[in-house]
Amino acid sequence: MSNANNQPKSCPFPWKCGRCRQREVYPLEGEYTIEIVHDGRSYTVTLPSLRRFRCRNCGEVNLDEEANKQISQAFRRQAGLLTPEEIRQNRKKLGLTQEELAERLSVAEATLSRWEKGWQIQQRSLDKLMRLFFELPEVRQFLQPRASSGKRPTLGVRMEGPWCW
Ligand SMILES: [Zn+2]
Repeated sequence: MSNANNQPKSCPFPWKCGRCRQREVYPLEGEYTIEIVHDGRSYTVTLPSLRRFRCRNCGEVNLDEEANKQISQAFRRQAGLLTPEEIRQNRKKLGLTQEELAERLSVAEATLSRWEKGWQIQQRSLDKLMRLFFELPEVRQFLQPRASSGKRPTLGVRMEGPWCW
């Protein structure tokens, strides 16, 4: 399974296959089942109808961005994980920026951004932490940045004089 995003949208079928190099790739619609391993657990996700691209010569199946999004949505539903929209909406409801929420959850801002864009799926433990954070004021209070630690120290900051050598 590879990505079909590099195919220009206007390119007429059949497309050239990335594996066997034959011009035998056609669109295909219908039920699609995929095995997804997440956090060491295996899930069988079935979509009643998914558009993908299949090589009639070698059988290679390509998924485009839209297909990946649908699979990811179906998986999150099945696994009971927060969707990108839910994460974003809950964060905004609390008036937090991505940077602020990421800091409270101790994850990288880029990671949170990928969750909200749906490019990456959060681990179950972090999904739970987010749910607790969104649901319980006590948890938000507990994870509040402390006044003293406020801003993280900046590395490599130049101290201003005066210096006595
Ligand atoms: Zn092929």
